[in-house]
Amino acid sequence: MLDSKTIFNKIGEEKALAIERELSRCKAGEKMCPSCEGRMNRIPITYVMPDSGGGGDLVGALVVATIQAMIPNKKEYLDLDGCPSCGLFWFDSGEMSNVSLSESMKVKEKRRPK
Ligand SMILES: [Zn+2]
Repeated sequence: MLDSKTIFNKIGEEKALAIERELSRCKAGEKMCPSCEGRMNRIPITYVMPDSGGGGDLVGALVVATIQAMIPNKKEYLDLDGCPSCGLFWFDSGEMSNVSLSESMKVKEKRRPK
């Protein structure tokens, strides 16, 4: 459980702001906020991990490099829970480090009727 200040420090201002902006627009999820006991909103996020930079055997690395040249980096998907009233976010530690390492992060666009 992290507050928005911690998120800012961990994943950077740009990503944190995108998440905060989306928080107020998202639907309520199933998790309850441990602080105010309100429902937390569920924020859908996609992010792109940077190339892992080799490792493993040489042939494998070559194959990986060839494939990476042809296709864009893999997109990861994550649902983040956040409380709109307290500004608290629920991150798994793995999710947090993935997002902070990611090349780009996007809050998934939802089509809304006008
Ligand atoms: Zn709350």
